Amino acid sequence: MAGTTADGLEDRLAPYAVSSRNSRGRMHREPPPAHRSDFQRDRDRIIHSTAFRRLEYKTQVFVNHEGDLFRTRLTHSIEVAQIGRTIARALRLNEDLVEAIALAHDLGHTAFGHAGQEALNACMKPWGGFEHNLQSLRVVDELERRYAEFPGLNLCFETREGILKHCSPARASALGDIAQRFLDGTHPPLEAQLANLADEIAYNNHDIDDGLRSGLLELEPLCETALFGRYWKEVHDRYPELRGRAQIHETIRRMIDHMVRDLIDETTRRLDAAAPASLDEVRKAEGPLVAFSDAQQHMNLELKQFLRHNLYEHYRVRRMTGKARRVIHDLFEAFMNDYRLLPPEYQEHCRNKRARHGESGLARGIADYIAGMTDRYAILEHHRLFDPDHVS
Ligand code: MG
Repeated sequence: MAGTTADGLEDRLAPYAVSSRNSRGRMHREPPPAHRSDFQRDRDRIIHSTAFRRLEYKTQVFVNHEGDLFRTRLTHSIEVAQIGRTIARALRLNEDLVEAIALAHDLGHTAFGHAGQEALNACMKPWGGFEHNLQSLRVVDELERRYAEFPGLNLCFETREGILKHCSPARASALGDIAQRFLDGTHPPLEAQLANLADEIAYNNHDIDDGLRSGLLELEPLCETALFGRYWKEVHDRYPELRGRAQIHETIRRMIDHMVRDLIDETTRRLDAAAPASLDEVRKAEGPLVAFSDAQQHMNLELKQFLRHNLYEHYRVRRMTGKARRVIHDLFEAFMNDYRLLPPEYQEHCRNKRARHGESGLARGIADYIAGMTDRYAILEHHRLFDPDHVS
């Protein structure tokens, strides 16, 4: 029986983990998969989606064509999944669900990292704004068109819930069930809490790595931060001859390991104290149960502040984000003035949206098109629309 296969896969999970048995299921009912759990199926659908492939050409901090060595949203998502799975297995949580959430968590991101998101949000201000979390949910619920019987990927409730990391109360009431927890103050499953913190471990560490590689970050001030300083010294004491990339990598792998161990220890401590007997008790717990220790939270904050001041606000990054903002803004304005400039399938998407929701529907359709663009596609589209020498 198909159910037996999934049950077998999920037998070793903790009683408070998400499983096919306690899942709230899919919006459109489907027969259970034969050789996979429902959450493996979700992960597989995400990997086969168009939005997932586009992550390869979307950036976190650096524009995609700046170099082949920097993280893109694709490699970032894979690192989040790797870290998340390690922790999930140690805590007997549903590894497949953590992986699915991790791989999908950035699907709604625009081109050009946070600059792109801020620009599109500013353009969409009169029509409800733009938020990449919500957009990730729109991608998996609505925008992917791959199946005959339903729009989107028809993912399980818990996968969708994990993708929706945060949400304002006003938006939550419009979203219904999936955002209920933002209204009643309950918590998402441990797998969603975990994917969120695995994201933090991944970007804090890889942004240091990319920052150093790009030459925008300098070692000396970085060594003054507690965690990097500690492990840089440890690596130096142990391998005094080591230099270059290996020295940095040996430091960063120790930092990742430190954060992972801290998260597992603190979460185990909280689980022991709260002793939830079921997923329901996780939802109703007093606070989040997956967490870093206070000391670690402090060190993470220090790293984040360091990265903000020295990398994200570096003048060379700001020059890039300034250009990105203008590209997104120009594209949005041009399409709002005349949506017939859009490729035919998006014209239809926008026409449908406008027929149902008027001007705000049209704006949302245009935002969907722009949010789907990769860095280089957005730049190319800008040339096509604004460069008189460009014939297309
Ligand atoms: Mg992320």
